[in-house]
Amino acid sequence: MTNSIDKATVEQTKWAALLEDAVRKPGKMLEAYRAFHNYSFGNVLLAMFQCEARGIAMGPLATFDNWKSKKRFVRKGEKAIILCRPVVIRLTEKDEAPAPRCDYAEYRSTQSFAMLDEEKSASKGKVIKRFVYEAKWFVMNQTDGADYKLPEMPSWNKNTALAGLGITEIPFAAPVSGNCQGFARKDQVAINPLAQLPHKTLFHEMAHVVLGHTKADNYQAHGAELPLSLMEVEAESTAMLLLDALELPGAEYCRGYIQNWLGEGKEIPESSAKRIIAAAEKILRAGQQKAQQQVAA
Ligand SMILES: [Zn+2]
Repeated sequence: MTNSIDKATVEQTKWAALLEDAVRKPGKMLEAYRAFHNYSFGNVLLAMFQCEARGIAMGPLATFDNWKSKKRFVRKGEKAIILCRPVVIRLTEKDEAPAPRCDYAEYRSTQSFAMLDEEKSASKGKVIKRFVYEAKWFVMNQTDGADYKLPEMPSWNKNTALAGLGITEIPFAAPVSGNCQGFARKDQVAINPLAQLPHKTLFHEMAHVVLGHTKADNYQAHGAELPLSLMEVEAESTAMLLLDALELPGAEYCRGYIQNWLGEGKEIPESSAKRIIAAAEKILRAGQQKAQQQVAA
């Protein structure tokens, strides 16, 4: 018993130091945040209407080949979603025949030839934008592929932790951007099957739930206003401590994310640090219960 208390104290001290490091040591941003194209608001609406009409859940969009490159495959018979795509047309010499612009002869007489040449070469490379509608996109729900795979965690079990904390995992369907790694709402979490570090995302989303960020009045959590930036810092910091406890990779990405949300030179507030450590302990313990029971049995 004494031993486990000592162990917890050592862990807490280490975690406090890790939280301090989080804003000082260099961090990185996940490459996955740039994996998918960011569609315009108009295109997102267009895709949503089509999904609704066809009764399929909206989700990340990509072309057939883009999905293939991400090891997800469009199911046979799936009909492509139509989006509007800008096309850039470069004008050729022929196209550029200038629209009648006042009296050309008069214009020419007042300008030097050098200027005219300059004008000509400038308009030669002139580009115009047109929009075309094409059916070549598919939402994630029209594709098949492997689900995310968590790394080996001998001392922590996902299902035990989720059950113990009253959290349900749901399919990753709603988010519009494939760059979104996961989400949490109420007592539910969803992880993108293409998440770059699914264990980090899982901990992050679980932390949002455990920290009370996903309650209906989420901006009034903890009896005070907690801005979105601090919620993100708290959830990611919790994930970072869990990565440390379970000896998993990805801490540099946590630091990058934390610094990005916190802003340069800012420290994690002490009230948040306390909540972060408590949440990390709670999630850690919830996943360890099965292992302990097995030992006892
Ligand atoms: Zn978050």
